[in-house]
Amino acid sequence: MKKLSLLLVSSMLMSCAAAEEEQQPVWDGNKVVLKSEKLADGVFAFYPSMAKEKEQKGIPVATSGGFIVGTDGVLVIDTMLNKRLNMQVQQMIKEEANMPIDYAVNTSFHGDHSYGNMYLPETTKIIQHETAKNYIDHHFKADTEFMIQNFGKGRGIEEIKPVTGDLLISKGGKLTLDLGNKKVQIIDFGFAQTGGDLFIWEPESKVIWTGNPIITVKPSLPWLLDGHLVETLNTLEKLYEFLPSDARIVPGHGTVMGKEDLVWHIDYLKAVKNQVQKAIDEGLTLEETVAKVTLPEFKGYALYGWVHPGLNVPAAYKDLSKK
Ligand SMILES: [Zn+2]
Repeated sequence: MKKLSLLLVSSMLMSCAAAEEEQQPVWDGNKVVLKSEKLADGVFAFYPSMAKEKEQKGIPVATSGGFIVGTDGVLVIDTMLNKRLNMQVQQMIKEEANMPIDYAVNTSFHGDHSYGNMYLPETTKIIQHETAKNYIDHHFKADTEFMIQNFGKGRGIEEIKPVTGDLLISKGGKLTLDLGNKKVQIIDFGFAQTGGDLFIWEPESKVIWTGNPIITVKPSLPWLLDGHLVETLNTLEKLYEFLPSDARIVPGHGTVMGKEDLVWHIDYLKAVKNQVQKAIDEGLTLEETVAKVTLPEFKGYALYGWVHPGLNVPAAYKDLSKK
């Protein structure tokens, strides 16, 4: 499953510039410019400057994140793909807080959320899920090769060295980080895309960071890269239940959204689950199921043609055929 989906990512994420050998990534780590948005005192999101326009049209954009400045410390959420982007993050923090970065958390092991760890000061403590650390410890070389394939050569990935967590969160675990006047919660709500997915919740401002399990608003769709449709759906429903109605969500690849924006993603996964289950009950093969379960009402995402038939329907078929 993993190998197959990685191959599919490679072929779908890169679009061939006509007859040229050099392929173009969906977003370019050498060009993206990040901007920050203040959500409350000491609470900031950052995301690509063009994200708002693009996400509405279903066009994928680079990684989002944020930082929280307390009286006793600073936490940065996600460290970006390369040095160039990580330095933009450090510059934004410098402009808002004249304090060192005490903590950095990775919402997953994915390189665009964690490769920048190595550019942080040595004193910064890295927080990861133990599953993320385990993945990096065993698959780092293959992971960087895969990322170079998808995000291009010469985007700073070649120089990345693995830097894993100083503080680890175990399966189903939760850590409360005391930044002085702010107590930030880092929570594992369950399998959401990688099995090592962390959500960062700042209760006072009611802001949560989700990483990739929520790419961005409609029409983006979840990517079941590592399968587990049923668990992913349960986790997103748990997240929805957890959030107050006026919560704000900083997704993995987009601008700030509201709680009700989660409904699109949950409804999509429910529809995939119901329709694929029906196909299995009718005795359809995987190929027949992919052909049948097209869910046109969820079209609009630029990566729909890969993510839905290439990734999510097969993942659902595998997951639901198990019992
Ligand atoms: Zn990402």
